[in-house]
Amino acid sequence: MRFHKAETAFFFFIALILLAALSIFYGWNLLGQPAEALSEPGRAEVLATLRTILLATVVLLGGTLVFGICFILPQIRTQVKEGGKLREMTASLSARSRNLEQAALTDGLTGMQNRRYFDDALKEYLDEFRRIDKPVGLMILDLDHFKLVNDTYGHDAGDEVLRSVGKCLKSMTRYHDVVARLGGEEFAIVAPNMDLELLQRVAERMRKAIASLPIEAAGTQLNVTSSVGLALWDREETAEEFYRRADKQLYEAKRQGRNRVCA
Ligand code: GH3
Ligand code: MG
Ligand code: MG
Repeated sequence: MRFHKAETAFFFFIALILLAALSIFYGWNLLGQPAEALSEPGRAEVLATLRTILLATVVLLGGTLVFGICFILPQIRTQVKEGGKLREMTASLSARSRNLEQAALTDGLTGMQNRRYFDDALKEYLDEFRRIDKPVGLMILDLDHFKLVNDTYGHDAGDEVLRSVGKCLKSMTRYHDVVARLGGEEFAIVAPNMDLELLQRVAERMRKAIASLPIEAAGTQLNVTSSVGLALWDREETAEEFYRRADKQLYEAKRQGRNRVCA
């Protein structure tokens, strides 16, 4: 086993104190002899030895003190400082990696969850809900003729529309719903614990809210509509199959003329 410099110094420190203690014990032992023995021949030498021992103890303790202050204390200080720096670095590194992880799962434009997060969350929800007998609903929402918004009012206005729609969806969903921007002008919501009828009502409310959303952009007020595809998990299908079914309904809503919900 290898010892660190500070540990070796500490052992040395302890050895010095032990030595001093031993020497005090030895002196104490000598002093313990009966007082009348002091008059015996050779006792004067004993007393002289005792004085030497006590002096040596004082020197030892003084040396220990100096050693502790000049050698051990600076090392402890350095280590505390280095430890602090290391902790700071570790904290900032883990904060950075948390931020990166957060960034990897967040959509930069709207601050919503992104496609990657959605894919993982949908799989996790289905795994969890496989065990409990509760429904899971999925809505896919796509803005209608969004290209026209970009072409007419510019890309920045389009971005503002996306942000407003994102905020609106977020405000209309519950804490445990997953609300994500899948890309472009397409959004998805995983809504557990709702039957199809309730899901349809909620989707209809969202569609109406988006259509009447006052969006200020490009110096004017814009209006957009959306089409929504709905599906309720059949408890058998995979996340991909479930998604495809909802996407088919979205396609159907577009085909039927947009600005509507299809389930
Ligand atoms: P539909 O009703 O069939 O959905 O028509 P659409 O015009 O909404 O759909 P289309 O797929 O033809 O056009 C989508 C447009 O969305 C094209 C693209 O320029 C725009 N878009 C995608 N991502 C962004 C974005 O981040 N910001 C902006 N401003 N526009 C985007
Ligand atoms: Mg569209
Ligand atoms: Mg689209």
